Amino acid sequence: MNFNEIAAQLEFFRDIGVETLEASPSRGGRHSEGRPPGDGLTLDAIRAEIGDCQRCKLAPCRTNIVFGSGNPNAELVFVGEAPGYDEDQQGLPFVGRAGQLLTKIIESINLKREDVYICNVLKCRPPENRNPEPDEVASCNPFLRKQLAAIRPKVVCCLGTFAAQTVLQTAASISRLRGKFFDMDGTRVIATFHPAYLLRSPEKKREVWEDMKQIRAELFRLRS
Ligand code: URA
Repeated sequence: MNFNEIAAQLEFFRDIGVETLEASPSRGGRHSEGRPPGDGLTLDAIRAEIGDCQRCKLAPCRTNIVFGSGNPNAELVFVGEAPGYDEDQQGLPFVGRAGQLLTKIIESINLKREDVYICNVLKCRPPENRNPEPDEVASCNPFLRKQLAAIRPKVVCCLGTFAAQTVLQTAASISRLRGKFFDMDGTRVIATFHPAYLLRSPEKKREVWEDMKQIRAELFRLRS
Protein backbone atom coordinates (compact mmCIF):
# COMPACT_ATOMS: atom_id res chain seq x y z
CA MET A 1 0.00 0.00 0.00
CA ASN A 2 1.42 3.35 -0.96
CA PHE A 3 1.45 6.61 0.92
CA ASN A 4 -1.68 7.99 -0.80
CA GLU A 5 -3.70 4.91 0.09
CA ILE A 6 -2.70 5.06 3.73
CA ALA A 7 -3.47 8.76 3.74
CA ALA A 8 -6.95 8.05 2.34
CA GLN A 9 -7.71 5.65 5.18
CA LEU A 10 -6.44 8.01 7.79
CA GLU A 11 -8.50 10.82 6.30
CA PHE A 12 -11.77 8.95 6.92
CA PHE A 13 -10.84 7.15 10.11
CA ARG A 14 -8.51 9.57 11.83
CA ASP A 15 -11.06 10.37 14.54
CA ILE A 16 -11.59 6.74 15.56
CA GLY A 17 -8.01 5.41 15.32
CA VAL A 18 -8.04 2.17 13.34
CA GLU A 19 -5.40 -0.14 11.93
CA THR A 20 -4.59 0.22 8.23
CA LEU A 21 -4.95 -2.23 5.36
CA GLU A 22 -1.95 -3.96 3.84
CA ALA A 23 -2.72 -4.78 0.25
CA SER A 24 -4.71 -3.23 -2.51
CA PRO A 25 -7.37 -5.07 -4.55
CA SER A 26 -6.91 -5.14 -8.32
CA ARG A 27 -9.28 -2.86 -10.19
CA GLY A 28 -8.71 -3.80 -13.80
CA GLY A 29 -10.96 -5.27 -16.43
CA ARG A 30 -14.52 -6.44 -16.81
CA HIS A 31 -15.55 -8.27 -13.68
CA SER A 32 -18.42 -10.49 -14.64
CA GLU A 33 -16.58 -13.52 -16.02
CA GLY A 34 -18.24 -16.67 -14.73
CA ARG A 35 -21.44 -14.87 -13.76
CA PRO A 36 -24.80 -15.49 -15.40
CA PRO A 37 -25.44 -13.22 -18.39
CA GLY A 38 -27.58 -10.13 -17.80
CA ASP A 39 -30.74 -9.48 -19.76
CA GLY A 40 -29.13 -7.12 -22.26
CA LEU A 41 -30.15 -3.89 -20.55
CA THR A 42 -27.83 -0.92 -20.71
CA LEU A 43 -27.78 1.99 -18.31
CA ASP A 44 -28.43 4.34 -21.23
CA ALA A 45 -31.55 2.39 -22.18
CA ILE A 46 -32.79 2.48 -18.58
CA ARG A 47 -32.18 6.23 -18.39
CA ALA A 48 -34.08 6.66 -21.65
CA GLU A 49 -36.99 4.63 -20.27
CA ILE A 50 -37.18 6.92 -17.24
CA GLY A 51 -37.38 9.90 -19.59
CA ASP A 52 -38.90 13.06 -18.12
CA CYS A 53 -40.48 10.93 -15.40
CA GLN A 54 -43.92 11.93 -14.09
CA ARG A 55 -44.67 8.59 -12.41
CA CYS A 56 -44.91 9.95 -8.85
CA LYS A 57 -45.65 13.14 -6.94
CA LEU A 58 -41.95 14.08 -6.66
CA ALA A 59 -41.75 15.07 -10.34
CA PRO A 60 -42.97 18.69 -9.93
CA CYS A 61 -40.53 19.26 -7.00
CA ARG A 62 -37.32 18.26 -8.73
CA THR A 63 -34.76 20.26 -10.68
CA ASN A 64 -32.97 17.23 -12.13
CA ILE A 65 -33.46 13.48 -12.16
CA VAL A 66 -30.44 11.93 -10.42
CA PHE A 67 -30.00 8.66 -12.26
CA GLY A 68 -26.61 7.52 -10.98
CA SER A 69 -22.96 7.82 -11.94
CA GLY A 70 -19.75 5.86 -12.11
CA ASN A 71 -18.39 2.73 -13.71
CA PRO A 72 -21.07 0.85 -15.69
CA ASN A 73 -19.04 -2.35 -15.13
CA ALA A 74 -18.46 -1.73 -11.44
CA GLU A 75 -17.79 -4.63 -9.11
CA LEU A 76 -19.18 -2.54 -6.27
CA VAL A 77 -22.36 -0.43 -6.30
CA PHE A 78 -23.43 1.95 -3.53
CA VAL A 79 -27.15 2.60 -3.17
CA GLY A 80 -28.26 5.64 -1.19
CA GLU A 81 -31.68 6.96 -0.27
CA ALA A 82 -32.57 9.97 -2.43
CA PRO A 83 -30.97 13.10 -3.85
CA GLY A 84 -30.55 16.08 -1.54
CA TYR A 85 -30.32 19.75 -2.52
CA ASP A 86 -26.86 19.58 -4.15
CA GLU A 87 -27.65 16.39 -6.01
CA ASP A 88 -30.94 17.81 -7.28
CA GLN A 89 -29.14 20.93 -8.51
CA GLN A 90 -26.33 19.04 -10.25
CA GLY A 91 -28.15 15.89 -11.36
CA LEU A 92 -25.45 13.74 -9.76
CA PRO A 93 -25.58 11.45 -6.71
CA PHE A 94 -23.70 12.13 -3.49
CA VAL A 95 -22.03 15.42 -4.37
CA GLY A 96 -22.88 17.27 -1.13
CA ARG A 97 -21.31 16.87 2.33
CA ALA A 98 -22.49 13.27 2.72
CA GLY A 99 -21.11 12.61 -0.75
CA GLN A 100 -17.70 13.95 0.18
CA LEU A 101 -17.66 11.57 3.11
CA LEU A 102 -18.76 8.71 0.85
CA THR A 103 -15.79 9.48 -1.41
CA LYS A 104 -13.47 9.11 1.60
CA ILE A 105 -15.17 5.85 2.58
CA ILE A 106 -14.63 4.49 -0.94
CA GLU A 107 -11.00 5.63 -0.92
CA SER A 108 -10.46 4.00 2.48
CA ILE A 109 -10.57 0.60 0.74
CA ASN A 110 -8.25 1.79 -1.98
CA LEU A 111 -10.87 2.35 -4.63
CA LYS A 112 -11.75 5.55 -6.43
CA ARG A 113 -15.20 6.97 -7.03
CA GLU A 114 -14.76 6.23 -10.75
CA ASP A 115 -14.24 2.53 -9.96
CA VAL A 116 -17.66 2.10 -8.37
CA TYR A 117 -21.23 3.00 -9.35
CA ILE A 118 -23.35 5.22 -7.11
CA CYS A 119 -27.11 5.61 -7.27
CA ASN A 120 -30.16 6.04 -5.06
CA VAL A 121 -33.48 4.35 -4.37
CA LEU A 122 -35.28 7.53 -5.43
CA LYS A 123 -34.16 9.49 -8.49
CA CYS A 124 -35.89 12.71 -7.42
CA ARG A 125 -35.38 14.83 -4.32
CA PRO A 126 -38.18 14.65 -1.75
CA PRO A 127 -39.22 18.14 -0.58
CA GLU A 128 -37.22 19.35 2.44
CA ASN A 129 -35.29 16.06 2.26
CA ARG A 130 -38.14 14.22 3.96
CA ASN A 131 -38.12 10.43 4.03
CA PRO A 132 -39.15 8.59 0.87
CA GLU A 133 -42.79 7.51 0.88
CA PRO A 134 -43.92 4.01 -0.10
CA ASP A 135 -45.58 5.05 -3.39
CA GLU A 136 -42.40 6.90 -4.41
CA VAL A 137 -40.24 3.88 -3.63
CA ALA A 138 -42.67 1.67 -5.54
CA SER A 139 -42.41 3.94 -8.62
CA CYS A 140 -38.62 4.11 -8.60
CA ASN A 141 -37.64 0.66 -7.39
CA PRO A 142 -38.07 -1.05 -10.80
CA PHE A 143 -35.42 1.26 -12.23
CA LEU A 144 -32.98 0.57 -9.41
CA ARG A 145 -33.51 -3.17 -10.01
CA LYS A 146 -32.81 -2.66 -13.71
CA GLN A 147 -29.66 -0.65 -12.97
CA LEU A 148 -28.35 -3.45 -10.76
CA ALA A 149 -29.27 -6.05 -13.40
CA ALA A 150 -27.41 -4.04 -16.07
CA ILE A 151 -24.27 -3.50 -14.00
CA ARG A 152 -24.22 -6.96 -12.41
CA PRO A 153 -21.89 -5.93 -9.57
CA LYS A 154 -20.32 -8.49 -7.31
CA VAL A 155 -21.26 -6.50 -4.22
CA VAL A 156 -24.02 -3.97 -3.49
CA CYS A 157 -23.56 -1.76 -0.44
CA CYS A 158 -26.79 -0.20 0.82
CA LEU A 159 -26.34 3.11 2.60
CA GLY A 160 -28.81 3.52 5.43
CA THR A 161 -32.25 2.26 6.30
CA PHE A 162 -34.20 3.04 3.14
CA ALA A 163 -31.67 1.57 0.76
CA ALA A 164 -31.22 -1.55 2.89
CA GLN A 165 -34.95 -2.11 3.35
CA THR A 166 -35.71 -1.48 -0.32
CA VAL A 167 -32.93 -3.59 -1.79
CA LEU A 168 -33.36 -6.43 0.70
CA GLN A 169 -37.17 -6.17 0.77
CA THR A 170 -37.38 -6.20 4.54
CA ALA A 171 -38.69 -3.99 7.34
CA ALA A 172 -35.72 -4.80 9.61
CA SER A 173 -33.76 -1.88 11.07
CA ILE A 174 -30.37 -0.82 9.73
CA SER A 175 -28.77 -1.78 13.04
CA ARG A 176 -29.97 -5.35 12.54
CA LEU A 177 -29.14 -5.49 8.84
CA ARG A 178 -25.71 -3.91 8.75
CA GLY A 179 -22.45 -5.78 8.84
CA LYS A 180 -23.47 -9.04 7.19
CA PHE A 181 -23.81 -10.27 3.65
CA PHE A 182 -27.07 -11.35 2.08
CA ASP A 183 -27.41 -13.14 -1.24
CA MET A 184 -29.64 -11.55 -3.87
CA ASP A 185 -29.77 -13.58 -7.08
CA GLY A 186 -26.04 -14.25 -6.89
CA THR A 187 -25.09 -10.71 -5.86
CA ARG A 188 -23.70 -10.15 -2.38
CA VAL A 189 -25.56 -7.37 -0.57
CA ILE A 190 -24.38 -5.63 2.57
CA ALA A 191 -25.79 -2.63 4.42
CA THR A 192 -23.97 0.02 6.38
CA PHE A 193 -24.79 3.36 7.98
CA HIS A 194 -25.58 6.30 5.70
CA PRO A 195 -22.77 8.90 5.42
CA ALA A 196 -25.24 11.64 6.46
CA TYR A 197 -25.77 9.72 9.70
CA LEU A 198 -21.99 9.51 10.15
CA LEU A 199 -21.80 13.29 9.88
CA ARG A 200 -24.14 13.49 12.88
CA SER A 201 -22.69 10.47 14.73
CA PRO A 202 -18.99 10.18 13.82
CA GLU A 203 -18.46 7.49 16.45
CA LYS A 204 -20.37 5.13 14.11
CA LYS A 205 -17.48 5.27 11.64
CA ARG A 206 -15.91 2.32 13.41
CA GLU A 207 -18.80 0.07 12.35
CA VAL A 208 -18.66 1.43 8.80
CA TRP A 209 -14.96 0.68 8.73
CA GLU A 210 -15.70 -2.93 9.76
CA ASP A 211 -18.28 -3.15 6.96
CA MET A 212 -15.86 -1.71 4.42
CA LYS A 213 -13.20 -4.24 5.37
CA GLN A 214 -15.76 -6.99 4.83
CA ILE A 215 -16.60 -5.59 1.40
CA ARG A 216 -12.95 -5.44 0.47
CA ALA A 217 -12.38 -9.04 1.63
CA GLU A 218 -15.46 -10.23 -0.25
CA LEU A 219 -14.28 -8.58 -3.46
CA PHE A 220 -10.92 -10.34 -3.04
CA ARG A 221 -12.66 -13.65 -2.38
CA LEU A 222 -14.98 -13.36 -5.37
CA ARG A 223 -12.08 -12.54 -7.70
CA SER A 224 -10.07 -15.61 -6.77
N1 URA B 1 -28.02 11.21 0.33
C1 URA B 1 -28.43 10.18 -0.44
O1 URA B 1 -28.99 9.20 0.05
N2 URA B 1 -28.18 10.25 -1.73
C2 URA B 1 -27.56 11.26 -2.30
O2 URA B 1 -27.36 11.24 -3.51
C3 URA B 1 -27.13 12.31 -1.46
C4 URA B 1 -27.37 12.26 -0.16
